[in-house]
Amino acid sequence: MTHDASQKINQKLDADIIVVGAGLVGLAAAIAFAKQGKTAVLVDSNPAKIALPALKKSAAWDARIYALTTATEDWLKALEAWPGVDTGRVNAIDAMRLWNENDQKLELNCKDANLPKLGVIIENQNLMAALWQQIIALGVTVITDAKCKLLEHTQHDITLSLEGATKVSAKLIVAADGVNSWVRGQANIAVKKKYFQQTAIVVNFFAEKNHQNIARQWFAPHATLALLPLPNKHVSMVWSLSTEKADELLRLSGEELAAKVALQSKHELGTLQAIGKTLSFTLNQQTANALIAARVVLVGDAAHQIHPMAGQGVNLGFRDVMQLTSLATKLRTMQDIGEYSFLRQFERARKADIASMNTLTTGLDYLFASDSTMIKKVTNWSLRQLNSQAAIKKILIQQAA
Ligand SMILES: Cc1cc2nc3c(=O)[nH]c(=O)nc-3n(C[C@H](O)[C@H](O)[C@H](O)COP(=O)(O)OP(=O)(O)OC[C@H]3O[C@@H](n4cnc5c(N)ncnc54)[C@H](O)[C@@H]3O)c2cc1C
Repeated sequence: MTHDASQKINQKLDADIIVVGAGLVGLAAAIAFAKQGKTAVLVDSNPAKIALPALKKSAAWDARIYALTTATEDWLKALEAWPGVDTGRVNAIDAMRLWNENDQKLELNCKDANLPKLGVIIENQNLMAALWQQIIALGVTVITDAKCKLLEHTQHDITLSLEGATKVSAKLIVAADGVNSWVRGQANIAVKKKYFQQTAIVVNFFAEKNHQNIARQWFAPHATLALLPLPNKHVSMVWSLSTEKADELLRLSGEELAAKVALQSKHELGTLQAIGKTLSFTLNQQTANALIAARVVLVGDAAHQIHPMAGQGVNLGFRDVMQLTSLATKLRTMQDIGEYSFLRQFERARKADIASMNTLTTGLDYLFASDSTMIKKVTNWSLRQLNSQAAIKKILIQQAA
């Protein structure tokens, strides 16, 4: 079933899978299922002009960027979504250099684990455009400007009613509708929320010195500054700090902010020049109490929102889809993808990964934020020890990649 991606449909549609939410995770889910020969209908509340950035990619550098692991990149290549990426605007991460507030440094270099790289930095618009191209190439049915109204399930299927006359029925709904997921609410799945009282400021800089493909990160009490490598001596900044301090920084001019960041980063990259827009995001941690309900599965930020300090949020969401679609290949012919035992299998398989990411981000925040002299000493000592332990570093590097 192929429709023009921006077309609105007022009819009854049947599919194997409905994906609600055309963010990165929902797009990838629709592609992965379509590649398996399943019919997928992708629904997003945004109008086509917002939902289809493939049609309006800008030459300006996007302030929204992602650090993608090599496993994510390989998977997107397997989905044939990578050929649409403008690789001239993607930067490899060869090493990670981390400091604590006492200037103790830890360096993780891909060479120490015999890896070609640790990951890549890619702009949101570049990745979105590539995914949309593959959605269109695969002929996935897309309904934009969709206002979800009602979700009803029977023993055999689930039906999503949209405002207007459109109804879509399928065996399974994949909820990829982000942190305030409508589907999650309809399925009565509650969330556990942790308020970090932090804001992330995001902006790109042109740096005086070459970044040498190193992702740099400075940890301080309840604050993390990251300078991530982009092509042509550009770096992307993600500075997570208390909302109060962030509000002060957001009042500065681009020049003033650049000077603050250069100082905070001990002039590692020399002077900095702000490029383009400065954006800000409120940071919380949120985990759904369940990943499944009757013929519903949650993926991406609809299932879990984590602190960006580890650069793992969308990677984690992609891993949900990898798991779901990989399990789907093991279904027997005629076995129902929406049946409870299958969904339970998915939920069990994803619990550990999600829990360990939550622990990693809250644990790092606690370690570096602690006022305890003992914990500070242990952190300093640990970083020094780690930096000199080739075998442990190798494990950390493999985990990061
Ligand atoms: C500052 C910052 C930096 C980050 N850096 C990284 C990084 O380096 N690496 C990384 O892996 N992750 C990073 N993340 C996390 C990453 O941005 C998110 O995990 C990811 O974007 C979530 O994608 P998603 O598709 O699940 O949700 P979203 O991107 O939120 O997409 C949800 C989609 O659902 C649609 N939608 C919403 N409600 C409805 C509805 N009722 N009906 C229909 N459609 C609906 C929306 O229009 C949207 O298209 C970062 C996050 C922040 C804030």
